[in-house]
Amino acid sequence: MKRVVTQLLAPAELGTPMIHVPSGVPIELDLRLEAVMEGVLVSGTVSTPLEGECSRCLDSFEDETTVEIRELFYYQDRAFDDPDDDSLQVVGDHLDLEPALRDALVLGLPLSPCCRPDCAGLCADCGARLDELGPDHTHAQVDPRWAALPSLIENKEKD
Ligand SMILES: [Zn+2]
Ligand SMILES: [Zn+2]
Repeated sequence: MKRVVTQLLAPAELGTPMIHVPSGVPIELDLRLEAVMEGVLVSGTVSTPLEGECSRCLDSFEDETTVEIRELFYYQDRAFDDPDDDSLQVVGDHLDLEPALRDALVLGLPLSPCCRPDCAGLCADCGARLDELGPDHTHAQVDPRWAALPSLIENKEKD
């Protein structure tokens, strides 16, 4: 077994439209490589900074994540008859980690990222951030039954 601690610069477009790994930032890898019968088993953790847009208040925010990775890279002498087989392969003595990292990271990203777990989001009336407005932010509520009155009065005046 071999332990590999290294860094990799993030490739472009790693993530989702809501949250992604900024292109070119260092991704920290702490991996164990184990020779098994069919190939090399790679397991360990991947840590990276993230840049996202809050799904509640739409502000951009920075975060970081650590995901577990566990992938088997097959030796090339294994028959790859099935063209749809996207198994990972050991090429020479080289492991192309990018597809495995991509899967592990993208699957681990939140579908609705938030800048803070308790982000209050936006005011439904004015669209401002509730966290900045404070708890006593309100809009004068017009009772919908009275809201119809001004138009009735206007119509009357035309008669
Ligand atoms: Zn937010
Ligand atoms: Zn408001």
